[in-house]
Amino acid sequence: MPTMRDVATLAGVSTATVSHFINNSRRLTPETHARVERAVAQIGFVPNPAGRLLAQQKSRGRVASLSTVKPDEMPSENTAPRHEQNHQQISPRPLVVAKPILPFAHHDVAASTAAVSGASSGTTRHLLRIVRAAQPISRADLARRLNVNRSTVTDIVRPLLDAGVLREGAPEQAGAGRSGRPPIGLSLLAKRTTFIGVNIGVRRSQVGAALADGSTVVEETFDTPPDADAALAQVRATIEMILADTPADQQVFIGVSVPSPTDGDGTRILYAPHLGWRDVRVSEALRGVKSGARTGPHSHLTIMVENDAMAAATYETRRRLRDSSPDGGWDDFILVRAGTGIGVGLVRGGEVYRGTGGGGLAGEFGHMTIVAGGKECACGNRGCWERYASATAAAALYGGDRAPVMNGTGPRFMDVVARAEGGERRAQSTLARVGEYLGIGIGNVISGLGVPRVVVSGRIVYGWKYLEEPLREMVARTMAGRLSNWSIVPGEPTGSGLGGALEVAIEQYLTMSNNSVREVA
Ligand SMILES: [Zn+2]
Repeated sequence: MPTMRDVATLAGVSTATVSHFINNSRRLTPETHARVERAVAQIGFVPNPAGRLLAQQKSRGRVASLSTVKPDEMPSENTAPRHEQNHQQISPRPLVVAKPILPFAHHDVAASTAAVSGASSGTTRHLLRIVRAAQPISRADLARRLNVNRSTVTDIVRPLLDAGVLREGAPEQAGAGRSGRPPIGLSLLAKRTTFIGVNIGVRRSQVGAALADGSTVVEETFDTPPDADAALAQVRATIEMILADTPADQQVFIGVSVPSPTDGDGTRILYAPHLGWRDVRVSEALRGVKSGARTGPHSHLTIMVENDAMAAATYETRRRLRDSSPDGGWDDFILVRAGTGIGVGLVRGGEVYRGTGGGGLAGEFGHMTIVAGGKECACGNRGCWERYASATAAAALYGGDRAPVMNGTGPRFMDVVARAEGGERRAQSTLARVGEYLGIGIGNVISGLGVPRVVVSGRIVYGWKYLEEPLREMVARTMAGRLSNWSIVPGEPTGSGLGGALEVAIEQYLTMSNNSVREVA
């Protein structure tokens, strides 16, 4: 039977792209979508194990009657993956068990596993994310958080343990040098897998590697070279240094966070106004990284390029998944990342929303105009929100907008925060003013998107003490502020930079693990 790899080869795309097509987990450009669709049709690829089984039965000349199966119990990815909403798949609807869905003469183990995992791909995905966020976690806790029974968790977990995606027991690091019993539960094993995060910032960039539990094992920081080719060469050299001891059969997942919208396939920077980079093919530049002493490029490589606000949204989603409180409202929230610029990410049903169509412009609120004829922006417009409410804008405002902040001659945002902390009135009122602008924009975003929960992340959070009250006042004045039960909380002040990039890499791994387990089941 054709595999995902066959489809990828035929369509001339990566298996990750095929996987995104199947799961509808990432928007693809119309061309790529059509190409994958053609390849799927051409070789008769059936992405769903239950569907594969059905196809096998048919090819053996047996007519399988599925008349006993209700339409909403049918695994649907094999027919119309694009219409599936992921947050619908994770609904607490009871899972379909093997017997009613497979009215075949005899069911073997594979058939049972296929039926269960096929009917619950969204649940498997959600389970993997919860394990990732809350590891180690017991089966009982997982069942409670997924609102399914324990036997369902057992059915989902078994192939993941067999495939080396998960492990069960005490975590490797725990126990040593600690008193008390280490917690027992499921955690990510990610056998023969390396995660690399690349955070390309406007001023500074980081490249790091992490373990499956998310702990960073190595981190390199450097000033971002102004030239895109030079920057990517430095990123590549740093990755090769990290991979120097990596065996050839190791799976390497690279997540790249960039201050720019990206193309639908997650391969390119479209336009990074603060860097002046246009159409930079990041994946292509990193595709050839070498590992160990070999001369050729590392072959098991998956690369995903992601907008920094989206990466931060992925990171904050994971942080909130760790919390097991029954407050499920954090499945939907707006992430406002304010540093050099402002980026906005939207999370719906636990998934980062990337817009529709091929533009990759979802969440570009930083460049919405809030002051008519206002300050010039790097994007070419005037009066953009980020010119008034970003950390850079705060530093510029403090300096009377005279000193060009970007070349380092003016006070930096952290200096302004330090002066405010030291009791300086001017620094405090500057931050309060920026808080107002931040609140005006957040009020607009809440009103426009209809999502009342907001996480603010990025450098701006360092000044939260002085920003918060004026920010809340401005939001409270808006219509959304008066009509909705809104909440705004500070997130990761580093804007989750490298952490967000690593999260993008791990998210790729979870998606591919989910698919591969379903393929072999
Ligand atoms: Zn702008």
